[in-house]
Amino acid sequence: MARLGNWIEPFPEGIYVKPADAWVDPSQPKERALVTHGHADHARGGHGAVWATPETLAIMDVRYGQQCANPVAYGETVRLGEVAVGFVPAGHVLGSAQIVLDYRGERVVVSGDYKRRPDPTCAPFVVVPCDIFITEATFGLPVFRHPDTGAEIDRLLHRLRHEEGRCVLVGAYALGKAQRVIAELRLRGHHEPIYYHGAMERLCNLYETLGVPLGELRPVAGAKKDELVGRVIICPPSALNDRWSRRLPDPVTAMASGWMRVRQRARQKNVELPLVISDHGDWDELTRTIMEVAPKEVWITHGREDALMHWCMLHQVKSRELHLVGREDDEEEE
Ligand SMILES: [Zn+2]
Ligand SMILES: [Zn+2]
Repeated sequence: MARLGNWIEPFPEGIYVKPADAWVDPSQPKERALVTHGHADHARGGHGAVWATPETLAIMDVRYGQQCANPVAYGETVRLGEVAVGFVPAGHVLGSAQIVLDYRGERVVVSGDYKRRPDPTCAPFVVVPCDIFITEATFGLPVFRHPDTGAEIDRLLHRLRHEEGRCVLVGAYALGKAQRVIAELRLRGHHEPIYYHGAMERLCNLYETLGVPLGELRPVAGAKKDELVGRVIICPPSALNDRWSRRLPDPVTAMASGWMRVRQRARQKNVELPLVISDHGDWDELTRTIMEVAPKEVWITHGREDALMHWCMLHQVKSRELHLVGREDDEEEE
C-alpha cells in the first residue's frame, strides 16, 4: 500500500499538493497558491492565482495589491484537479482557515496557524477529523500556558486607571493582534476612544468594513498631547521604543504577545507591562487539538517540534517534522 499522504510533498518553501498542482502558503511566487491567512509568513504577493477566504484575499489586497483571486468561503469546496479543497475556520485572525484536502479517500488538513480560545474578531476553530493533520508548534513547549485573556485586559485597564498623567501604549502586531486587543477592551467595558499609530489604520478600517466593530478609533497624528493622557494607544511593536513614541504623555509601555510569557523578551524590549495575549495555541491547546482531530499522522511545521513530537510518541500518534523556511514567530514581525 502506498505511504499515507504520498500525494503531499513538503518543500522548504511550502507544501506541494501534487494532484492539484498547487502550493499551500508558499514563500516564493507560484502559479497556484492556497493561502491559509494573511500573515506575511504565509501570504506572499506575486502568485499566479490565489485560493483563499474572501477576508484573507481582502487583507492580501491591502498588503500586496490586487490578486488574481479565487475566493472560497468557509464551508465551500472547490476542485483542483482530482483534489477537493475546502476552507474551515482556524480561529487565528480574521479570515484564517485550515485547508482541507481530500484525494482518493485520504484527507489532509493544513491548519496554518490556529488557537482555540474565543476571539471576538474571528470565527472559532473547527475540528475536522482527518488522516494527516499538519500543525504549527509556535508555542509547542509545556512551559507555554497562556493565561485568561480577559484577566490580561483587566491588568491593562487597571494600569490605565492608576497612572496619573500617563497613557498606556500597547505594541501589537498590525494584522489580527491589534484589532483583537481593541475588541477585547470593548468586551471588558472600555468604550473610550482608542488611539492608533498610522500603520494600523488600513487594517483596522478593513476589519470594520468586513463586519468586526472596533468602537471609536482615532489617529495619534493630529491629537494634542493632553488629549492622549489616560488613553490606550495601539502601535506596531517596532514603534514602542522609537522616536514616534516621544510625542506621547509618559507612556506605560505594554506589549501583547504570547512571547511576553518569557520575561527575558519583555526586558529586551523595555516592556513595562507584558500582556500574554496570543493568536497561537499554547501547549494545552495544541495537544488537545491533536487529541480531538485524532489523525493517523501529525506533521509539524514552524516552532518547537521536538516536544510535540515526543508527546505524539507517548500518545502513539505517528509524527514527523517539516522543515519549512521563512516561518517566523509571526507575533513579532512587522
Ligand atoms: Zn499567523
Ligand atoms: Zn505562522
